[in-house]
Amino acid sequence: MKTLKLLLTAAVAVLTFSSAASALPPGKEDGSEATAKEYGTELATKAQFTELKAGDKVTLVCKMHGPQKEITVKDSKMAMELCEENHMAHCDTCKKDYKVTWLNPSGKSGGPTTAMNIVDENGKPCMMYTKAM
Ligand SMILES: [Zn+2]
Repeated sequence: MKTLKLLLTAAVAVLTFSSAASALPPGKEDGSEATAKEYGTELATKAQFTELKAGDKVTLVCKMHGPQKEITVKDSKMAMELCEENHMAHCDTCKKDYKVTWLNPSGKSGGPTTAMNIVDENGKPCMMYTKAM
């Protein structure tokens, strides 16, 4: 008599998942805001824009990404347009447009507490104009 033993071999297939999940979007590191000092003087009052002359260079700085655009002032009209309420400023890196707002209504220009900010849709200051010294 012959006893046959059947051996069952279980083949285990191991499936490996290679998940390349990057949780953080590139280029956005909090805590390293650009400051006006690195790029000159921040332009934040009507008076500063009034003083701009033809040939002056103004830099549009994103607080997250640094300088985005250098603007050469052609005349005072152009300088005032830059700081006009609701003027749009664009950051190529953010791929967003930001809006010029004034702390005081633009009708009451010149007051000591009148300050310009370039804000996102939530009112957070995200950009600024600076003038190289
Ligand atoms: Zn940006």
